[in-house]
Amino acid sequence: MADIKPFWQNYFDGAWQDGGAGRIDVINPATGEVLAQHALADRADVDRAVSAAQRLHRAGDLRDMRPLERGRLVQDMGRYLSAHRADIAELLTLEQGKPLWESLIEVDGAALYFEYYGNQAATVEGRSVPLGAGYYDWTEHEPLGVSAQIIPWNYPLEMTARSLSAALATGNACVVKTPELTPMTNAWFAKAAEAVGLPRGAVNLLCGYGAEAGAALSAHPGVNQIVFTGSVPTGVAIATAAAQNVVPCVLELGGKSAAIVHEDADLEAFENDLRWGIFFNAGQVCSAMSRVIVHQSRAEEMAARAEAVARSLTVQAGIDSPEFGPTMGAMVSDAQRDRAVGMVAAAQGEGARLIAGGHPCNSAGAFMEPTVLTGVGAEMTIAKEEVFGPVLSILSFGDDEEAISMANSTDYGLVAGVFTRDLDRATRAARRLRAGQVFVNEWYAGGVETPFGGYGKSGYGREKGREALWNYVQTKNIAIKLGAAS
Ligand code: NAD
Repeated sequence: MADIKPFWQNYFDGAWQDGGAGRIDVINPATGEVLAQHALADRADVDRAVSAAQRLHRAGDLRDMRPLERGRLVQDMGRYLSAHRADIAELLTLEQGKPLWESLIEVDGAALYFEYYGNQAATVEGRSVPLGAGYYDWTEHEPLGVSAQIIPWNYPLEMTARSLSAALATGNACVVKTPELTPMTNAWFAKAAEAVGLPRGAVNLLCGYGAEAGAALSAHPGVNQIVFTGSVPTGVAIATAAAQNVVPCVLELGGKSAAIVHEDADLEAFENDLRWGIFFNAGQVCSAMSRVIVHQSRAEEMAARAEAVARSLTVQAGIDSPEFGPTMGAMVSDAQRDRAVGMVAAAQGEGARLIAGGHPCNSAGAFMEPTVLTGVGAEMTIAKEEVFGPVLSILSFGDDEEAISMANSTDYGLVAGVFTRDLDRATRAARRLRAGQVFVNEWYAGGVETPFGGYGKSGYGREKGREALWNYVQTKNIAIKLGAAS
């Protein structure tokens, strides 16, 4: 295992910097031990980082670069991450808890965002609008300026990569507020920006508390756009701050996503969807398959299969799981684990039946048993509120109408799934499900190329795909009155 340096700094204005708010201990959730300390930014640091980004934007070094060349730099950042894949993945597992094989997938996913958006840089084209012989008119897209990005702890690399790559590709200078529980892997974005030769001020990274550095960044008058990924209450605070400064924001919030499983579905194949859908990253995934709504004729079989999947997983320190396999790591913190355990107990109190897991593991570290609840009713708290842990709720339905209304019965609307061999039925359901993305016959079908984002309290705006590019640009129309022909 690589040596981890004892103190990590923030990075802004092209230099590594201490934090005005002191330091925070970064804990390895698999052991409860301190891994290292990280600098904590205060308001003044936020101000300095935003000023550095503004200076770059005004100077035009990134904004005015030929998009093809800017795109090449963005792609180079992805290559840099890939070249350091093993080191980054190990650090991610140590600070976040996920199995090493999952961390490798996350590093690859982060690199893919830079490849994809680097490729898209030159495709953000304008168009000429015909106004008759007396005018020449065109519409073009300009970067917004300073993009502020506030990142959660569950996928610190991929979430930063997702917004940073698209913002840079479109010519914005970025200030990223990294998550205070998992800040260290983000340092690799600063190293990548330096290594590929991005201009000073293009990438600024600050770790700080949400209520201090996060709030200061989202309310900063020098910020022109905000991307936030995290919880609903924080999203509301950030949208309020954005409204005060009249700047746009993108909110990627939580979910309580459901898979509808019809009587003709292939339940053996569905075991794989269960595995990825609710136990990947110990269920700490915004688009987790936290509810399965199964036809009553297959409910018993579904419960037996879900129980078997849960019991087949070995829960252990992520660093001991380098190879892809049936393993689950620690949750990010004891507090997150205890919250999830408490929600399971409350669900039992409301009448749900626990058939697997439900408890902390009998070892040090933030480990929780893979958990399955059956007999869950749509009105129960566990069917409405996000657990953000390895906890599956199984509900059952009688007809298609009931299944759709159950799936749509939460305030959220991030993703949904339909499992059936009948494509007409799946298509009809997909149209009626209140969710930003619908998976048919494979949970997490799609990729960096497909737009992603929420309906309802899951947020607004779209990340991923070409749709995300429009978050980072503003539209300008230029209309010229031509003089009379001589
Ligand atoms: P959180 O809202 O507590 O924190 C997210 C980020 O916001 C952190 O960096 C935090 O420091 C910062 N923050 C906190 N208070 C702030 C404030 N007042 N002003 C500005 N910034 C502030 O969420 P979390 O617990 O870190 O993450 C879990 C949540 O994120 C879950 O609800 C999950 O569903 C959601 N999430 C959504 C997506 C998505 O793409 N939709 C992805 C990952 C996580």
